[in-house]
Amino acid sequence: MKKALRVGIFGGTFNPIHQGHLAIAEEVLKTVGLDWVLLIPAGRPPHKKGRKVLPAKHRLAMARLAVQGHARMEASDLEITRRGKSYTIETVKALERNYPKGTEFYLILGLDAFLEFDSWRSPDDLMARCHIVVVSRPGYRFSDLFRLDFLSRTDPASLNELDAGRRSRLEILLSSGTRLILIRVTAHDVSATQIRDHLSGGKRFKNLLPPLVESYIMNHGLYRRATRSS
Ligand code: ATP
Repeated sequence: MKKALRVGIFGGTFNPIHQGHLAIAEEVLKTVGLDWVLLIPAGRPPHKKGRKVLPAKHRLAMARLAVQGHARMEASDLEITRRGKSYTIETVKALERNYPKGTEFYLILGLDAFLEFDSWRSPDDLMARCHIVVVSRPGYRFSDLFRLDFLSRTDPASLNELDAGRRSRLEILLSSGTRLILIRVTAHDVSATQIRDHLSGGKRFKNLLPPLVESYIMNHGLYRRATRSS
């Protein structure tokens, strides 16, 4: 029997996309054995209300530059070309229509994002349609996942072991029949907020941005304090 295609869905504001995002995508590709990862910048991110977000065309252009040289990654305009807020459940349904029947989807998120998962639109439906891959992020603890109702019965010791680095991976079979895969990845203590703060202060830094993305930001004068981005 032909093996099902395994596709990772990695959404984010990507304002801008940074080395942390790419490193996570690479590590998940390898450790979960995916065929492909789609990086999907949100058109209108529902979770970043009140924050000024760079226009989607720039965030998509940077994501496209970032994946150059990464053979099994692609930047997708799916959420940017859709009207309204970028709800992941709508993205998953659209991908199900575009990919062959039987394709397995793996939703990839950082631990900080997953801790808010029950505030997302249709979390149960999402968990029924996709496997969920949650990667560690400096400053966040897997043991805090107890606050999510559907994980309240998980063995606390195994989550503590992940936090302590005595275990690198934990798989939990969900009642929907899909898997929740918790992975302790190499730590990348970087955030887009930190990068924007640096840039608005006119600073440059090494190794936090893919080089082509850094050039794009400089060439378009993005994230400078006194400049309006077009
Ligand atoms: P911001 O600082 O603007 O909130 P961010 O750096 O968190 O941005 P997002 O685009 O919001 O980046 O993140 C997209 C996804 O990548 C989320 O699931 C987030 O948890 C995850 N992520 C981002 N940076 C890291 C990191 N350094 N380690 C682990 N996960 C990360």
